[in-house]
Amino acid sequence: MNEKCLFCQIVNREESAFIVAENAKALAILDAFPVSDGHTLIITKEHFPNIATVDAKSWEYLLPLIQEVINKLKNTKLPMLPQGFNIVSNMNEIAYQSIPHVHLHIIPKYEKNHGFIWTSQPQLKYSLSAVAQKLK
Ligand SMILES: [Zn+2]
Repeated sequence: MNEKCLFCQIVNREESAFIVAENAKALAILDAFPVSDGHTLIITKEHFPNIATVDAKSWEYLLPLIQEVINKLKNTKLPMLPQGFNIVSNMNEIAYQSIPHVHLHIIPKYEKNHGFIWTSQPQLKYSLSAVAQKLK
């Protein structure tokens, strides 16, 4: 636990949040600044700064909770049946991580031009084959 961390405080019920699902190692809460109805965050109960630092045991609990929340959002049809979902985890401030406690966004997609919009500005220095060669 990190005492100054908002998500650790939510896990310990020291700060309030709308909790929509929970298991032994993870918690699902509504995002306080939703980009679509039902925008939910999956957070670990243990403090990990970002997705790259999560231990194997916590991963076992994160993935089922993602599926559970997706199924709840499909069944609830809030405000209608989502046509899809974006599952996003931002890592580090440069990539828009605002709270340094790992969280995965589940963002229901109801209409193509609403909610989460994928934009990118590619500036590539390597070909795909060069990248693949370096990553092997
Ligand atoms: Zn924390």
